[in-house]
Amino acid sequence: MNELQLDDFKTDENAAMVLLVDDQAMIGEAVRRGLSNEENIDFHFCADPHQAIAHAVRIKPTVILQDLVMPGLDGLSLVREYRNHPATKDIPIIVLSTKEDPLIKSAAFAAGANDYLVKLPDNIELVARIRYHSRSYMTLLQRDAAYRALRVSQQQLLDTNLVLQRLMNSDGLTGLSNRRHFDEYMELEWRRSLREQSQLSLLMIDVDYFKTYNDSFGHLEGDEALRKVASAIREASARPSDLPARYGGEEFALVLPNTSQGGARLVAEKLRMTVEALKIPHISPIEGSSLTISIGLSTVTPTAGSNCRELILAADKGLYLAKHNGRNQVGIG
Ligand code: GH3
Ligand code: MG
Ligand code: MG
Repeated sequence: MNELQLDDFKTDENAAMVLLVDDQAMIGEAVRRGLSNEENIDFHFCADPHQAIAHAVRIKPTVILQDLVMPGLDGLSLVREYRNHPATKDIPIIVLSTKEDPLIKSAAFAAGANDYLVKLPDNIELVARIRYHSRSYMTLLQRDAAYRALRVSQQQLLDTNLVLQRLMNSDGLTGLSNRRHFDEYMELEWRRSLREQSQLSLLMIDVDYFKTYNDSFGHLEGDEALRKVASAIREASARPSDLPARYGGEEFALVLPNTSQGGARLVAEKLRMTVEALKIPHISPIEGSSLTISIGLSTVTPTAGSNCRELILAADKGLYLAKHNGRNQVGIG
C-alpha cells in the first residue's frame, strides 16, 4: 500500500467541505453565517455558475449546494454536468429551489441530485443534511481507496509468488533449473510425449576431469567454470520447451521434447564444441588442455507402463560410454 492510499484512510470522515453555487450573494452570506459555528465544516461560495465545475474540481467539496435558477445557466444542466465530470460525478448534490414543486423536484432527481431543499432552509435541517451526505460520500471514497489498495496488494502478491516460484525452481550457482524442477518437468514431458506419441530426448552432461580442475585452480574458479558451461547449455536450448538444468554437482541435463535422436545429436555435438571453444585452461588430461564435457544422449517414444527413469538411465549409459571412450564426446545410450 503506498502513502497516498494510507492518507485516504486517515481522512477525517466527520469533516465536510461545502460548495454553494448561487448567483445571489445574499444567499451566500446567509448560508455562510448559518455554518460559521459548525465545527469541521468548510464553506466555499461560487456566485458565477460558469465557474462552478472548475471551482468544484479545485476545492473537492464533499457536498454541493446548487441553486436552480441563475441567469445564463440552468441549474439542472449544471447538475448533469457535475454528473458527467469524472472529478465531480459522485459528489452529493443538494438542490436549493425557490419552491416546493413536485415537477421541479422530480426533474432535479432525474438530473442526478441527491436531495432537495427549499431556500432558505432551517439551519438545523441544512446542517443535518450536509453532514449526512458528506459522511456517506467520505465512506464511498474510503471504500474505493480500500478496493484500490486491495487490488495493488493482490498484484504484489501475484508478483511475489512469481519471483518465489522462479527462485524455488532455479539453481543458485548457475540460474538454470534445479533438480527439483528438472524432475517435475521430465514427468510432465514424459506424459505429454506418451499422449502425443512424440519423441523425447535427454542429454546428460558431465564436465571432464573436474575434480583435478578444482584441485588445481580452487573451488571458486571451479564455480566460475561451471557457470560458463551452464551458459553454453542455456544457449544450446533453442526451443522454449527445451529445459536446461543442473542435475547435481558438475552434472547437467538438457530435456529436448519433440526431438529425434538425430536432432538431439546435433544439439549435443554443437554444445560439446561450444564448450571446447571456450578454451578454459585445464591441466587434465595433459598440461595445456582445455576444459571439455562428455554427453550421454537418449531418445524414446514413451509406451504405456514405462516411466521416465528409463530415459534417464539410458542417457546415463550413453554418458558412461562417452567417458569410457576417452571423454569430450557424445555417447548414445
Ligand atoms: P570425470 O571426467 O570422470 O567426470 O571426472 P571428474 O573429476 O569430473 O569427476 P568426479 O565425479 O570425480 O568429480 C566431480 C567433481 O566436481 C568433484 C566435486 O568437488 C566437483 N564439484 C561438484 N559440485 C561442484 C560445485 O558446485 N562447485 C565446484 N567448484 N565443484 C564442484
Ligand atoms: Mg566429471
Ligand atoms: Mg560427475
